[in-house]
Amino acid sequence: MTPRRTKRVLDALERRYGRPRPTRRLDPLSELVLTILSQNTSDTNRDRAFEDLRARFRTWDEVADAPRPAIERAIRKGGLARLKSGVIRDVLRRVRAEIGRMDLEHLRRLPMEEGRRWLLGFRGVGAKTAACVLLFSCDHPAFPVDTHVHRIARRLGWIPKTASAGEAHLLLEASIPPRRRLAAHVNLITLGRELCRARHPACPECPLRRICRHAQSGRLRNSPYIP
Ligand code: SF4
Repeated sequence: MTPRRTKRVLDALERRYGRPRPTRRLDPLSELVLTILSQNTSDTNRDRAFEDLRARFRTWDEVADAPRPAIERAIRKGGLARLKSGVIRDVLRRVRAEIGRMDLEHLRRLPMEEGRRWLLGFRGVGAKTAACVLLFSCDHPAFPVDTHVHRIARRLGWIPKTASAGEAHLLLEASIPPRRRLAAHVNLITLGRELCRARHPACPECPLRRICRHAQSGRLRNSPYIP
């Protein structure tokens, strides 16, 4: 997508949804655990699992030293609890071993790409999780690509239809100006929930319908709804 077209998309989204600010502000380690819990579940279930985990264990050290099944029980409302409990415990143990304490504040001071590389070195931490930690708790201009963002970017023709999530991160981050990435991320998710749903996107109501390749190809076929 050209810079001009990218600007049209971002402007149209901001006209409709405004320029959102971060809605949550956790320290980077808590953000990392929260984002691991968010994988393949809703925000509500993620938050319930996170609250239960914090209620069951007083500190991250206690979580790191707990038997994995105890962590699994604490986070079961978030789904995939067996898998996530192992990832969270491994992450916490490695943070403690490498940093010397349960704290990721150093990520705020590291250059973004260095921080990203470090986070991606953890088993179970992918591009989206790393970008969420960098964007939401470290003030770095990373651009997380979740399923909504990925789907909309492909429909718009922003990225190739076959682009993987990893490729989507690279392509979108390169095309969205750093100062607009937070708003772009939040607004695309809102659009994905409200209109550009996985099934039956509501193209006639969408502020991007005149720019969107998917909608335009549907219009040419005389059908506004494309499954
Ligand atoms: S026009 Fe339709 S397919 Fe394109 S972004 Fe909007 S809802 Fe999605």
